[in-house]
Amino acid sequence: MAQSDATNPMDRANAAPRCRATAKRTGKPCRAPAVTGWSVCRVHGAYGGAPPGPAHPNWRHGERSREAVELRALVNKLVRESRDHLPGLE
Ligand SMILES: [Zn+2]
Repeated sequence: MAQSDATNPMDRANAAPRCRATAKRTGKPCRAPAVTGWSVCRVHGAYGGAPPGPAHPNWRHGERSREAVELRALVNKLVRESRDHLPGLE
């Protein structure tokens, strides 16, 4: 017996965002649903990777952390620009 006016409960499942990975074996796009909050499915890297920052297992001292590098770049830029306003410092 076919459903008449009731919506198919699988419509929402079929409309779920799909994994953006390409299957290694077939070369075709993976068609599995992506894990919520990820662009890939559970077998293509969702939940994977180490956390950034001090929680990363390779974290040492933070001297080369993104924040520290950006801060040094900003300080260097300010020093460079301040030279134009300080007479006698060529
Ligand atoms: Zn996938």
